[in-house]
Amino acid sequence: MSVVHAIFEKLQIEYVEHKNGEELRFRCINPKHSDSSPSADINTLTGAWLCRSCGFKGNLERLIKVVSGEDVDLSQYVSLDEEFRFKVQNIYKQSLKGISRYDDIVQFDDTMGTELKNFKPAMECEEAVKYLTGVKRKLTEETITNHKLHYSSDGDYKNRVIIPYFKNGKLIGFNSRFIYDGNKKFRYMYFLSHSQFEDYVYNLENVVDNDYCILVEGPFDLMILRQLGYKNVISTLSTRVSEKHLQHIISFKKIIFCFDDDKESKAGQKAVINASNLILEISPTKQLYYCKLPEGKDPTEASEDELKSAFNKLIRIKKKEVHTIGWVLTND
Ligand SMILES: [Zn+2]
Repeated sequence: MSVVHAIFEKLQIEYVEHKNGEELRFRCINPKHSDSSPSADINTLTGAWLCRSCGFKGNLERLIKVVSGEDVDLSQYVSLDEEFRFKVQNIYKQSLKGISRYDDIVQFDDTMGTELKNFKPAMECEEAVKYLTGVKRKLTEETITNHKLHYSSDGDYKNRVIIPYFKNGKLIGFNSRFIYDGNKKFRYMYFLSHSQFEDYVYNLENVVDNDYCILVEGPFDLMILRQLGYKNVISTLSTRVSEKHLQHIISFKKIIFCFDDDKESKAGQKAVINASNLILEISPTKQLYYCKLPEGKDPTEASEDELKSAFNKLIRIKKKEVHTIGWVLTND
């Protein structure tokens, strides 16, 4: 079984094997394409996929983003023994090469053109206001307006809050969050210009100095911390920090990770170690800190006091080689 097989099983995407399992055929994941007889294929060696009917395509990372939303940490989907890890890295490298930037931009502009008319400022939509200011999100009108949150009452993103992402003033994509509970398959649904997004760091435009930055996983984590008065809160919009992200992050004197405390999977904690690993390789003396949230909580679930207490007891992340882990969190 390949890594791609494992991910399809995990994401519960139905497929039929082709070419002795080298390719899997599945229903197109393009929200604009209701694909009744499966027309998309993914190469299980490279992770590159393409819908032969509508042309929607991408790499494995993009597929996970579209289907599962927030978290694109591949280690969540496959076991992490070294052999598998090696395969995953190969898939990343090869499939990234396979993306056609031109097609990506054309398709992006096309979809944006048709979807944008469905989006209205969230503050003008009762359902959106109820969701965003309610107990789950706890956002104020100021935050909702500052982050230009919108709401889609129609189209492919119907009943979703739209979180737009801008780069140099230009809209390069958005995340959408379904506002109702229930068995809606995709809570989060991204739409973005992949080539514009590789190095994207959310909220850089509101950074005020380079004393420190607080790195969080998702947009709602970021909004709640900003709302509570924390400065320089930024996000790569996943747990992954790449070398391309680092060019925007490395200039901060201190980097504080405030990732989810995932009780079972420890995904947030593992991601902090991975990112620290990368940063300390490039900048060995960089001051890295870990903000340990209460067990099982993310920044939106922790209370204001719990957050304050966690930020008052930051844990320094230092270089310390232990077996194959490489770096560990340490109190000294
Ligand atoms: Zn399609």
